[in-house]
Amino acid sequence: MDGKELTYKGQHLPQKGEVEFITGGPPCQGFSATVITIDLDFSYWRMYRNFVSFKRSMILKLTLRCLLRMGYQCTFAVMQAGSYGVPQTRRRAIILAAAPGEKLPLYPEPTHVFSPRACQLTVMVDDKVRDALSDLPEIKNGAKVEEISYSGEALSHFQRKLRGPGADWRDLPNIVVRLSDGNYSKLLKYTHDDIKNGQSSNGALRGVCSCANRKACDPTDRQFNTLIPWCLPHTGNRHNHWSGLYGRLEWDGFFSTTITNPEPMGKQGRVLHPQQNRLVSVRECARSQGFPDSYKFFGTILDRHRQVGQCCSPPLAEAIGMEIKKCLAQKEKDTVKHIFQIVS
Ligand SMILES: [Zn+2]
Repeated sequence: MDGKELTYKGQHLPQKGEVEFITGGPPCQGFSATVITIDLDFSYWRMYRNFVSFKRSMILKLTLRCLLRMGYQCTFAVMQAGSYGVPQTRRRAIILAAAPGEKLPLYPEPTHVFSPRACQLTVMVDDKVRDALSDLPEIKNGAKVEEISYSGEALSHFQRKLRGPGADWRDLPNIVVRLSDGNYSKLLKYTHDDIKNGQSSNGALRGVCSCANRKACDPTDRQFNTLIPWCLPHTGNRHNHWSGLYGRLEWDGFFSTTITNPEPMGKQGRVLHPQQNRLVSVRECARSQGFPDSYKFFGTILDRHRQVGQCCSPPLAEAIGMEIKKCLAQKEKDTVKHIFQIVS
């Protein structure tokens, strides 16, 4: 914009007329102030976080208006990455713009049917007894055990559905275990009545703090080093029982949007492997975004998770890229045709 030809590092800066293509994607979080400025040939265009929803789409509208004022053709859509083949529900706002005289690309058609909500609808095609019961473990006549673990995988959609969602913190056993530092975890003690939820069927207490009785919190009620973190039952009533915290992914489910920080107590709590006792790995998250296995990420494990989580899903990017390529090919064809007409 200042007419400089070199960057401070001595790299060549593209001059007016030299830029053929610009692509940019401001990360959806982690930026504070006025964020990113993208030089667009000779003018500029600012992007803010919460680009689409901020101030009733004002930023989005201003961006489109700015592009139009500069003579660009532009178009806008919210695209679902899951529609392009990744096992992840993730929507991205995509703006495409083309300079005057260029062909404005269309949005690519979805290649995969994807609707996380529709997938929860059940169509009962066949309600045979086997479909409903065959995965339950064998028991003897008169057996009276509170809980038995499944002996194998669910064998029908119905069984999968009834086994319920992937486990979360509520499935943690309240036991004493030896920790890696040699210390032992403590049992979580339920010390209070829980007015809202009452007592459990066997009369046991369910609250862990005096606030379960609508009294003020008593700091001495706090318990430490328990396998079930005390803070979760403490405030569960107010937070949808902290559903999903310390949660496992489901083999038959989807990755939720951006796992940028796999932290089991974080907002994106469903970050444990479906079977193995650990967080999802960088490579597993990369697979969920559609990165080839050869793709390398750099920095700390957290940095790498961010790189994966903040990216535009490669198959989605590829689908958009193919549409842009179509436009370029069409333009070339038209030019050749035009020259041919002049010559003949
Ligand atoms: Zn309390």
